[in-house]
Amino acid sequence: MADADAIVIGAGIVGAACAHALARAGRRVCVIDARRGGATGAGMGHLVAMDDNRAELELSSRSIDLWRALAPRLPADCAHSACGTLWIAADDAEMAEAERKRERLAAQGIASRLLDARALAAAEPALRAGLAGALEVPGDGILYAPNAARWLLADAGDAIEFEQAQVDAIEDDGTLLLADGGRRRAAQVVLAAGLEAAALCPELPLRPKKGHLLITDRYPGTVRHQLVELGYVTSAHHAEGDSVAFNVQPRPTGQLLVGSSRQFDTTDPAVEPAMLARMLRRAIDYLPGLGELNAIRSWTGLRAATPDGLPLLGAHPWREKLWLALGHEGLGVTTAPGSAELLVALMTGTAPPFDGRPFAPGRLLETVA
Ligand SMILES: Cc1cc2nc3c(=O)[nH]c(=O)nc-3n(C[C@H](O)[C@H](O)[C@H](O)COP(=O)(O)OP(=O)(O)OC[C@H]3O[C@@H](n4cnc5c(N)ncnc54)[C@H](O)[C@@H]3O)c2cc1C
Repeated sequence: MADADAIVIGAGIVGAACAHALARAGRRVCVIDARRGGATGAGMGHLVAMDDNRAELELSSRSIDLWRALAPRLPADCAHSACGTLWIAADDAEMAEAERKRERLAAQGIASRLLDARALAAAEPALRAGLAGALEVPGDGILYAPNAARWLLADAGDAIEFEQAQVDAIEDDGTLLLADGGRRRAAQVVLAAGLEAAALCPELPLRPKKGHLLITDRYPGTVRHQLVELGYVTSAHHAEGDSVAFNVQPRPTGQLLVGSSRQFDTTDPAVEPAMLARMLRRAIDYLPGLGELNAIRSWTGLRAATPDGLPLLGAHPWREKLWLALGHEGLGVTTAPGSAELLVALMTGTAPPFDGRPFAPGRLLETVA
């Protein structure tokens, strides 16, 4: 597309959402991706309102609204389901945390309700006895992100053109150098290349956070909501060290998708039996019957983590024409549409849908004089 207004590098869920939003804003977009596979093909696809801080809650809640608005148009293979989340409280201390979480969500206009032990057992009979209760967030859901990314690109028709190519470098004037020797230029370039963006811009402060997942055979009805232990918040956000948390998703096929683990600073994609076993022991602790089910596959993926846990959304502080949409760590499927909406507002000079300052790349990148 020689006359593209913008080039997006990366066709994962974030790049696809940015291209889709640019096309809706009337731009002609060329999307370039090497198709080597990224986090989008490896993740869990839980659409979840996360509330570690106000900015994250605003971005995730806006994004879930946008996914909900798109849902009637998503094809069945995107597997969107409004199954809701149950945040499981193991004891009274976690139940108190569930109440605090309910208040934080309510302040953002997100409905949720506390379930006591009896209501939790009725809602999810496969959970172990003796849990204190849960917080139910009915507006959360799930999505099969690789197909959603493909659909976002296709939905814009001729306004988006896809090119399979490897970008080897971004020159100072914004020109892209391709591995096959080609060059591409446009007035604006969006870098949405996930973890690998750091190969093109070494100044980006991205760290890999490896995660394991496992999927079972089909056991329809075993679990109805996405189930996550409340302790997930502490274990998922440890700045250092390995951690696991109970996190189980009911796929529309009847399969159970089991997570989750986090390990910093390894890019080895191998499934590690010790880490997988630790993750499964945690899951079986909450869901005892899981140990009797057949697993059919396990795999790993790499999340792209920033030092403060928020993505970089906005203009690169010193590289000409370059815009950043990356560093979504474990929440990029959820937050792709809100990220795209914010970025495109900034790129087109229209009013941002919410305060974009917490996401401004300049907060983490030293400005070169
Ligand atoms: C185990 C695991 C579980 C997760 N669970 C969830 C969850 O439940 N909910 C949630 O919201 N998020 C979850 N995530 C996070 C989510 O998957 C990511 O945040 C999201 O997929 C990031 O999308 P992206 O488009 O930024 O990057 P990617 O999906 O990594 O896409 C980047 C693309 O850029 C391309 N690319 C890279 N470099 C180049 C280059 N030089 N030239 C051309 N193309 C290039 C790659 O081929 C790739 O297609 C999970 C992630 C993992 C690993």
